[in-house]
Amino acid sequence: MERRKLVIVGSGPAGYTAAVYAARANLEPFLYAGFMSGPAGGQLMTTTEVENFPGFPKGIMGPELMDRFREQAERFGTKVVFEDVVSVDLSKRPFVVTGGQTTVAADALIISTGATAKRLDIDGSRDGEFWQKGVTACAVCDGAAPIFRNKPLFVIGGGDSAVEEAVFLTKYASKVYIVHRRDQLRASKIMAERALKHPKIEVLWNSGIDKILGDQVVRSIMLKNFATGEVKQLEAGGVFFAIGHQPNTQFLQGQLLLDAAGYLVVKQGSSATSVDGVFAAGDVQDHVYRQAITAAGSGCMAALDAEKWLSIQGVE
Ligand code: NAP
Repeated sequence: MERRKLVIVGSGPAGYTAAVYAARANLEPFLYAGFMSGPAGGQLMTTTEVENFPGFPKGIMGPELMDRFREQAERFGTKVVFEDVVSVDLSKRPFVVTGGQTTVAADALIISTGATAKRLDIDGSRDGEFWQKGVTACAVCDGAAPIFRNKPLFVIGGGDSAVEEAVFLTKYASKVYIVHRRDQLRASKIMAERALKHPKIEVLWNSGIDKILGDQVVRSIMLKNFATGEVKQLEAGGVFFAIGHQPNTQFLQGQLLLDAAGYLVVKQGSSATSVDGVFAAGDVQDHVYRQAITAAGSGCMAALDAEKWLSIQGVE
């Protein structure tokens, strides 16, 4: 079995930034980029124009940005393999990381497998239908696109994310509707008030979207009121899912401390997890900020923490 000083699981901004730093520190990282678990490169691979990543004043396409992250990580000697990690054994030293085809022994481990925005299986919302053609799960990433300008936009959800995304979208939309399945928002009081008082936001209570319709882009939705059973067609320029994220921690099988929602718990101000030598970075441990730049920053922290920890263990 190949033995590595550092194995990184995940190939989003967090994983690749950790790899750049670790490779430059001569840790010769081995990075599992994923295969069937989601696009290698993470959530930015399903985004179009990224306009808020510093250093790219004219914006950059998500997939191109991730290609650049990978190229930079490989340039300094990261070994990238396109396999999913099936399981890890953290009860042994070195740890054992089992991928689809390879098994690697690791002195230290960085988990940066991200989180997946939850989607609803609505007619018209699927890949090949209007997914990424007016239907998305990230208003901050996609909301400024020209197709959404001066159109009525629909945000599904009732939590802080739904409110935050709705407020963000008011900058571009003619009107923003929050479509919520209940008659009360889950969002914190202050956020809920922000939505309820906003002149451009209307909450559609006890409601859901039955169908998304359009041609090249989204043109309308069928809105169902669960209380009355009434279904009506409304003009729409876009639909945004804001029903929460699912952290990608299933493969850890209870070996690391997770919070109630399944996010990895790290010590405050550090990337250290509940097991010595295992570090976490990016959205897998962050349900608050969830931005490419914050993920990249935490990837850097994880690499520095791992480097320090390995040097204390005498692994250089
Ligand atoms: P969340 O709090 O879990 O809210 C998810 C919302 O989606 C809920 O309103 C839920 O409805 C709805 N939902 C879930 N499944 C659904 C389904 N199948 N069909 C229709 N609706 C569905 O998630 P979140 O808003 O992403 O927030 C996650 C965490 O991040 C929270 O702790 C939040 O406070 C935090 N956060 C904070 C900020 C901020 O402070 N600025 C911003 C964003 C997120 P029900 O209410 O009926 O369950």
